[in-house]
Amino acid sequence: MDRYAALTRELARVCPGLELREQEPLARHTSFRIGGPARLMALPRSAEEAAQAVRAARALDIRPVFLGNGSNILAADEGYEGFLIKTFDGLSTLEERDGIITAGSGTLLSRLANFALERGLTGSEFAHGIPGTVGGAVTMNAGAYGGEIAQILREVVLLDREGELRTLPAAECELSYRHSAFLDGERMLLSARFALATGDPAQIRARMEDLAARRKAKQPLEHPSAGSTFKRPEGHFAAALIEQCGLKGLTVGGAQVSEKHSGFLINRGGATCADMLALIGQVRARVRQETGVELELEVRTLGI
Ligand SMILES: Cc1cc2nc3c(=O)[nH]c(=O)nc-3n(C[C@H](O)[C@H](O)[C@H](O)COP(=O)(O)OP(=O)(O)OC[C@H]3O[C@@H](n4cnc5c(N)ncnc54)[C@H](O)[C@@H]3O)c2cc1C
Repeated sequence: MDRYAALTRELARVCPGLELREQEPLARHTSFRIGGPARLMALPRSAEEAAQAVRAARALDIRPVFLGNGSNILAADEGYEGFLIKTFDGLSTLEERDGIITAGSGTLLSRLANFALERGLTGSEFAHGIPGTVGGAVTMNAGAYGGEIAQILREVVLLDREGELRTLPAAECELSYRHSAFLDGERMLLSARFALATGDPAQIRARMEDLAARRKAKQPLEHPSAGSTFKRPEGHFAAALIEQCGLKGLTVGGAQVSEKHSGFLINRGGATCADMLALIGQVRARVRQETGVELELEVRTLGI
């Protein structure tokens, strides 16, 4: 019996309610709509189930990979021969007390922002249009329009390598531009606490609507993508560099540099991971050649 069959059997024994899927197509779980099958995927419905999954995997020397809403992931066409634990939407919970919102790691940011709005709390408006979960957003220190997770995060509750519960204050999460201590994939975020300020609901709503309109006008939301493919290089904007190099609309198979926003590489239909990687390679090479700037991937890869 291989390790994944052993893990499936062990999880069925210690955690009979846990939903497990074998050979699950990753294209169904990534916003690029790209990716072959994952060997084994667990979809816990509680922190306890998540902890059982992490502990059982570690006991078999399997390193679990954590998945939120897959909105920043490019997965291999061959898929991923490993164990994934997906938080969306099983670990989706929201509570509020004295302006502090506690959100399960599988909660979508749009839900978090709407929840804050209903309570007249301001600070999370920027997050409303980011299609990720709380866990993915903390990991990426997601941000938009001048806001970022680091500005509102108070602390996180996580499972460490051994599957033990820990609470970590925001100051120890090493948050900087699209970076956190969790990018090494060793710890699973279970929930996060956000400190928000009291605000005027009408103003909060207006800000959210304004940002949504700006996104709709500027971003190719009608095509699958993972948002900005590249990080913002120091002193530049990735989209402007790409455009300056005449790469708008550049196409490889089903993958294309968006005509609407050059920072977005999109799936025009039927794109494979190989198409997307070839396009990424061409864009990086041309930008390096013509401007001397090295574009760094913001998108996380899986199985590549
Ligand atoms: C149309 C579009 C617009 C976007 N706009 C923005 C934007 O304005 N700003 C921005 O910052 N991003 C943007 N993104 C990118 C993406 O939505 C964010 O990076 C988001 O935070 C990813 O969250 P996720 O839940 O989808 O994470 P995933 O893509 O599933 O995972 C991202 C990383 O987080 C890790 N991770 C996820 N959950 C956990 C967990 N519970 N514990 C530990 N690690 C975990 C994963 O292993 C992976 O390394 C956009 C994407 C799209 C498709």
